[in-house]
Amino acid sequence: MSYQHQWYQGPRIDLPLGKVVCIGRNYAEHARELNNPIPEQPILFIKPATCVVPLEQPLQLPQRWGPVHYETELAILVGQPLSAATPIEAVEAIVGIGLALDLTLREMQSELKAKGHPWERAKSFDGACPLSPFLPPDQLGPLGALEFTLEINGEVRQRGHSDQMLTAIPQLLAHASESFTLMPGDVVLTGTPAGVGVLQQGDQLALELQTLGQFLTRVT
Ligand code: ZN
Repeated sequence: MSYQHQWYQGPRIDLPLGKVVCIGRNYAEHARELNNPIPEQPILFIKPATCVVPLEQPLQLPQRWGPVHYETELAILVGQPLSAATPIEAVEAIVGIGLALDLTLREMQSELKAKGHPWERAKSFDGACPLSPFLPPDQLGPLGALEFTLEINGEVRQRGHSDQMLTAIPQLLAHASESFTLMPGDVVLTGTPAGVGVLQQGDQLALELQTLGQFLTRVT
């Protein structure tokens, strides 16, 4: 099914889907749970547009490459070009905030990391970025006080708060824009809190953003 940026319980957003820029290890607790060191500067990678599917469409996971882990992340929709931007310019360019799953073939990622290879095979398969509809940032409150949760089958698995990020949202967008121009319609994923784990067939997922956005999906 094709993907189109969408307002939460509202119309489509008239921006093209671009790339998804992701950050690794932006929450110290999550770095620790995978026995990874805390990075000195943000670890960036990109998921192409072919990864993105609507979050609320049942998730179809690849079957042949080992377990798929969920990582629940705040997703920032960019509305203006950003190139070597300041944090203030970056904040002004944010048009929407939602939630995403940075789906990861964890065993494959571990093998690639051990070999010093890029992570794309583990992170950038088709469907690897289910993305929710977006809410306007002014509805959600300060960027430093965004809370979100993931429940699976009624049990809370991940609880995130943007004040736990090692690199805050404005600085993260500014930093990413030093390496890659961010274009209108690009999305920046901001890292996952602790609690990542394997998705199983039949899992029912409920994601919540600031008690204002509720998104449901399941694994087929
Ligand atoms: Zn992630």
